[in-house]
Amino acid sequence: MSALLEVSGVSVSFDGFKAINNLSFEIGASELRAIIGPNGAGKTTFMDIVTGKTKPDEGNVIWSENNISLLKLSESQIARAGVGRKFQRPTVFEDQTVRENLAMALKNDRAPWAVLFYRKTQQGGERIEAIAEEVGLTNHLTRTAGELSHGQKQWLEIGMLLAQDPRLLLVDEPAAGMTPTERDHTTDILKEAAKTRAVVVVEHDMDFVRKLGCKVTVLHEGSVLAEGSLDHVTANQDVIDVYLGR
Ligand code: ADP
Ligand code: MG
Repeated sequence: MSALLEVSGVSVSFDGFKAINNLSFEIGASELRAIIGPNGAGKTTFMDIVTGKTKPDEGNVIWSENNISLLKLSESQIARAGVGRKFQRPTVFEDQTVRENLAMALKNDRAPWAVLFYRKTQQGGERIEAIAEEVGLTNHLTRTAGELSHGQKQWLEIGMLLAQDPRLLLVDEPAAGMTPTERDHTTDILKEAAKTRAVVVVEHDMDFVRKLGCKVTVLHEGSVLAEGSLDHVTANQDVIDVYLGR
């Protein structure tokens, strides 16, 4: 098996504190993965390293079949190479409609030929509708983003990321602040997205992680504490101790 992303032996310190400690992690090209772990475990820092926001002191981050070192690329080069990231707070354009938001995201197409062969309006329209369908906003295309519920804004932002067609999508706590129905819908969106790309979801909510039904990586003190099915990792004594704070 060749992984889409292979992180090995990565460490990073902030003022002498090792936030990431000899971390190794792999994900396949169409795989859904949940990352869990207590506050301060290094989950966000891990995403910062993959997206190039933080450069590690040691280790390797290797990308795609071309074995590109992401450590040599800038944040924008990494985004163009196909890594998309969704932050906790939605950053949609509130005064624009859902359709306009998606259209803007499509214009920022990361593919190098997008500029050369400017997509025809018709194609753009079809693509917008397909993405709206994928995130469940088909009936909301003409509404301004500001009118959407918190959950709908999150889906719109996921749609805007999908418009860039990333090969790896990193999502930080998507279920926070959502109703149970919204959470279920979010699970469906992420599962669907992971059929054609790699998706990494950082999440605290165990019910949400259970519904994702994927392999789970438990982080603790900047390292992988356990990895496997949710049942496997939650039966692990080290994981139990960490979660009960012993
Ligand atoms: P998590 O997302 O799992 O809650 P973080 O990755 O945000 O954890 O943080 C891991 C540790 O690194 C925490 O102790 C945090 O305070 C520290 N940390 C993260 N980013 C920085 C930074 N830029 N400067 C100093 N310390 C940081
Ligand atoms: Mg975090």
